[in-house]
Amino acid sequence: MEAEMCPHVLLFPLPIQSPINSMLQLAELFCLAGLQVTFLNTNHNQHLLCRHTNVESRFRQYPKFQFRTIPDGLPEEHPRSSELFGELISSLQAVAQPFLREILPGVTCVIPDGLFYYAVDIGNEVGVSVIPFDTISPSCLWVYLSFPKLIEAGDIPFKGNDLDVLIENVPGMQGLLRRRDFPFYRLTNCATDLYCQLALKEIRSIPRSHGLILNTFEDLDGPLLSLIRSHCPKAYAVGPLHLQLKTRLADKRMPLPSSNSLWEEDHSSIQWLDVQPIESVIYVSFGSLATLTREEILEFWHGLVNSGIRFLWVMRSNLLREEEFNHQFVKELMEGCKERAYTVTWAPQEKVLAHPAIGGFLTHSGWNSTMESIVQGKPMICWAVYVDQRVTSRFVGEVWKIGVDMKDICDRYIIEKVVKDLMVTNKDTFKKSANNLSMLGKQSVGEGGSSYNAFEYLVEDIKKLGRRGKDTNPNCIG
Ligand code: UDP
Repeated sequence: MEAEMCPHVLLFPLPIQSPINSMLQLAELFCLAGLQVTFLNTNHNQHLLCRHTNVESRFRQYPKFQFRTIPDGLPEEHPRSSELFGELISSLQAVAQPFLREILPGVTCVIPDGLFYYAVDIGNEVGVSVIPFDTISPSCLWVYLSFPKLIEAGDIPFKGNDLDVLIENVPGMQGLLRRRDFPFYRLTNCATDLYCQLALKEIRSIPRSHGLILNTFEDLDGPLLSLIRSHCPKAYAVGPLHLQLKTRLADKRMPLPSSNSLWEEDHSSIQWLDVQPIESVIYVSFGSLATLTREEILEFWHGLVNSGIRFLWVMRSNLLREEEFNHQFVKELMEGCKERAYTVTWAPQEKVLAHPAIGGFLTHSGWNSTMESIVQGKPMICWAVYVDQRVTSRFVGEVWKIGVDMKDICDRYIIEKVVKDLMVTNKDTFKKSANNLSMLGKQSVGEGGSSYNAFEYLVEDIKKLGRRGKDTNPNCIG
């Protein structure tokens, strides 16, 4: 019995939708591999998750799985918006540090989000291996890892306002990466910029970790993975993670996972798609955090309407920046185009992207959305807002050539043009490259594929840590 209970993995996601989604998928994969798993969530997010999904009953089938929760340190009425992300991160850190110090001696290994650099310090302090899961895109992570070089070369902070200047000191991205593709393109002072400082702390923690988990696959990010491995040799590329999970569940003839959404999914979007012609609809979503001004929403709306293409738009109730969501505003917008458009406040995105009526995706280039779109072979129009979205969108347009990188341009005429380009004029070219990447992604998670094998190595390594820990760590549970 004793051997069965070890190893024990603690997963600790960033308290926002996309990392929670990915970490839950990883947690379920570990459960399938027979590991003992604790999923550490914030009270706030656990409440939302339990309200809108069946995670509790879904994970009850795994007797070695448990949820643990901690406060995020913020008052309940705090908006936890992207604009106040820094407050969420620092208040959670104040709560999480003492909690981790207490709980880590009882586990074999901890898998925190890559941004929780302090978990690496605590793990090293108490002698527990740390394998961060970096849920951002590997291209952005590689830019982060190049920060010291960029600072030394004087490339950052930028001098002058020209955003089209090429950044030549990121190995592997010469001639590709412009200032406007940089994660923090408004960076004026590295020493005072919170996000630059967080990125620097994160990259300093990577070489002190046991390994690093990334949601990508070799055929997509192979060259970058080789570069990342020069900082952390054990970089496990286990993505597309949602597909790895689905494939393994299907192999075991187990039910496929339902939603991990923090908001209620509106399935009427699927019913609406069911009556639309094949590949006729563009799906529009800016993820769970990005906000837009009223003017930006209007530019997108005019561009989409003028393109003549049908669209399904996720209008989150907190999509409007610094404004109360105005249902009347959305209602009036939709009045004029009822025949060709549909909006929901939150969609079952994976199902939407898998729907045959969807021909393309107008996205903010969040990493989960990008991977989900790649798996379904749907070409993308990228309108990146911040952080990894800016680098990822450059790769979509220029490296993988599976879409158009609109970057930060928000102009109705350009939007109309790129929508027609993606959905009509160059549809076949984009479809061909998107289908090819989709096929490679699917192969990577099939038995013997690179991501399938990477997950097997990861589990094997954790089991080795468990065997080592049992000799050296008297607190190991089991
Ligand atoms: N998502 C969803 N329904 C929506 C919009 C988004 O389920 O209406 C999910 C999507 O499938 C993805 C996540 O939310 O897994 C968004 O993650 P991403 O990394 O793309 O962007 P972020 O929200 O972190 O900016």
